[in-house]
Amino acid sequence: MEVQSAGPIAGTDYPRNWTEFLDWFGSEEACLSYLERLRWPGGFVCPSCGSAGAPYRSSRSRLMCRDCGRQSTVTAGTIFDKTRTPLRVWLAAAWYLTNQKQGVSALGLQRVLGLGSYETAWTMLHRFRRAMVRPGRERLKGRVEVDETFLALTDRQQPISRVGRKNKTDRVLVVIAVEMLEPKGFGRIRLRRIADDSASCVIPFVREAVEPGADVRTDGSAAYRSLGALGYEHRRTVMLGSDVPAHVSMAGVHRVASLIKRWILGTHHGSVQPEHLDAYLNEFVFRFNRRTSASRGMLFYRLLQQAVVTEPVTYEDVVRNKPTSAKPKHILDGHPVVLG
Ligand SMILES: [Zn+2]
Repeated sequence: MEVQSAGPIAGTDYPRNWTEFLDWFGSEEACLSYLERLRWPGGFVCPSCGSAGAPYRSSRSRLMCRDCGRQSTVTAGTIFDKTRTPLRVWLAAAWYLTNQKQGVSALGLQRVLGLGSYETAWTMLHRFRRAMVRPGRERLKGRVEVDETFLALTDRQQPISRVGRKNKTDRVLVVIAVEMLEPKGFGRIRLRRIADDSASCVIPFVREAVEPGADVRTDGSAAYRSLGALGYEHRRTVMLGSDVPAHVSMAGVHRVASLIKRWILGTHHGSVQPEHLDAYLNEFVFRFNRRTSASRGMLFYRLLQQAVVTEPVTYEDVVRNKPTSAKPKHILDGHPVVLG
């Protein structure tokens, strides 16, 4: 049976404001109960055997399956797994991260939460960024503009060793897809860092990001030539002389490109390591696609909802840039999570 929830309610599913936040999340126990409800909205499902039914509780955090007897915790297998940082601090970080319109840098988060180390703040932000991609999200539809842009990144804040490194600026190519609404305005976006602007890089991106049948607009680049054969309505806009500026014919991608550049320069002071750019792009997409959300508390709710179904990563994993595999398993366990 498909369970369609009516949608989260402010004051019931997420705090309406900071005062309410403090009331709700005063203890580790309160944070655990909240995460448990998000992780198993239809009641506990054993991560080992998939059996449903109220578990034995040997302590506040330990849950034991009545069928297979295996123990688990609310946070095992989520981005909060084995963390030494209190959940109250994690939830405060999620609140701050989602309530700042432009997000927050690791240094900013360290200061506002009084965290002992920059690395802790940096790792928390990266874990949250992994949770910002929703497994099984729908592809873009309708009229979609696709184009590439270069981002200039400065490798300045090395979390492991700041010794002996010089700042260098890299130019990184990013491909952008933007839904164009009628009569005007933008819908959702997708972004990806790519090695070059060849068909082998841009075509797989379009296929993963855009629903076949969509009306895809690109520039005259030959890299997109096969889109028609792949089931897309493909329209190429060829620049006829230099008197037609690019931002006129591809308004969506140029607007989004300038917003990303401003965000990286503003919130992150241009200082993003190229190997971690995808994580920052995840965050940008998460924010952009929810920019019309009526309440910031809703973003907090969505972020935590995804955080409890996203695999944990360690600081070392993040540094090594291990690819994530978000686990849709808990969603498919008979408790569909309806996301915006
Ligand atoms: Zn079990």
